[in-house]
Amino acid sequence: MPTTANTAPRIVVVGAGIVGACCAAYLKREGHTVTLLEAETPAAGASSGNAGALSPGSCIPLATPGMLWDVPKWLTDPDGPLVVRPSYALQAMPWLMRFVAAGRADRIDAIADALHALHSPVYDSYQPLLQASGAGNLIRQSGQLVVYRQRSGLESSMKWWQMRKDRGIEFEILDQKALHDMTPALAPDFECAVHQPQHGYVVDPQALVVKLVDHFRASGGEFVTGTAHQIVPNGTEITIRLDDGRTIAADRIVVAAGAWSKSLLSGLGISVPLETQRGYHLHLSQPGIDLPMPVSFSDSKFYATPMAGGLRLAGTVEFASPNAPPNFNRARRLGAIAQKWLPGLKLDGAREWMGRRPCLPDSLPVIGAVPAEPRIILAFGHGHNGMTSAPTTGRVVAELVAGRTPFIDLTPYRPDRF
Ligand SMILES: Cc1cc2nc3c(=O)[nH]c(=O)nc-3n(C[C@H](O)[C@H](O)[C@H](O)COP(=O)(O)OP(=O)(O)OC[C@H]3O[C@@H](n4cnc5c(N)ncnc54)[C@H](O)[C@@H]3O)c2cc1C
Repeated sequence: MPTTANTAPRIVVVGAGIVGACCAAYLKREGHTVTLLEAETPAAGASSGNAGALSPGSCIPLATPGMLWDVPKWLTDPDGPLVVRPSYALQAMPWLMRFVAAGRADRIDAIADALHALHSPVYDSYQPLLQASGAGNLIRQSGQLVVYRQRSGLESSMKWWQMRKDRGIEFEILDQKALHDMTPALAPDFECAVHQPQHGYVVDPQALVVKLVDHFRASGGEFVTGTAHQIVPNGTEITIRLDDGRTIAADRIVVAAGAWSKSLLSGLGISVPLETQRGYHLHLSQPGIDLPMPVSFSDSKFYATPMAGGLRLAGTVEFASPNAPPNFNRARRLGAIAQKWLPGLKLDGAREWMGRRPCLPDSLPVIGAVPAEPRIILAFGHGHNGMTSAPTTGRVVAELVAGRTPFIDLTPYRPDRF
């Protein structure tokens, strides 16, 4: 017989990645009774191994007009940033078509506005959580660099920089000398860069999630280890069935299970086009070089981030079936490319990692109540920017639950937009 793990907690948050941790923390601050349900450990998914970049000025959607022209080049380059495993190509196709459609010229301004609304308050939204949990030392507003080997690369991306400028985002263009004065570890091949002074990074993404969850528990929140298997709403409450037979009863549920959210909702007849974009990292505990801030390599599309435990090279996009084994050659290739651009970089003892980015075709997450069942709130699909967008997501989810008008307009992220 199933046993009841907890009697009537009012709100259950499913998933203790950065999004679930921020939702639980904000809901707890409101004085609710909150249970955070996690299948493994806090930050077991994408939230531990990412590049840690905090990008308040990131507002360019992943799909843009003209991007299709770059795809064949990326797919045929063994060091390229994009891979679609042949065995998964057919399955990925409907999602990829929606992705391309989202990149139409008449859609990207609205998407950029919505990304800007979600990303720009990142520091304000983290601030109360960091202060309460003592995690302030894990976030640095260091600035970030996007580096270009050729000036023509920067020139061809100027329209995207202009889109940022139109939204009030600050940046400065550095010439070769200014760039090398700022980052002596970089090879002299780079002709120019863009410096975004308001950007920053999390020095240890996993530690940040763990700190937030630890503080949540210390302030009376309940943490339950278990895998949600089914969500069953009825007239008086919502029952969450766990795969080991336990049940949890709730008045509200927040689904923040990252890339796994879709399967959890399928039993409810809620269909959201969530796809997984796998990413890889190579973590170097003794890299032999120093970087003053995260560096994004514009051609190869990966980050080198100076983290608490060394240097992390992170990026690449791989479409593969959900349970396919990782291909750690993707991670090792990052090391080989980085050695070209960061002479002196040492790869000894490198650790590889793979994580699943939860992605929707229009580059925006879903945040909001399910129209047919408003007791279920969705908060997933944060794609390539979840470390940046999570605290604002937590903030607006708490506002929704409290019945207040969220401080940003949630229309672009509504679950029924597809
Ligand atoms: C290589 C790479 C680099 C990245 N770099 C950046 C970056 O520089 N900056 C940035 O802002 N973002 C970055 N991201 C994106 C960011 O990591 C993600 O958007 C973010 O971590 C998603 O958080 P999440 O909480 O939604 O999902 P996750 O962190 O995946 O958490 C979901 C959690 O739900 C749990 N779970 C799943 N199913 C169930 C269930 N049925 N019951 C209970 N629990 C369940 C999982 O165990 C997991 O702990 C990067 C991602 C990758 C892969």
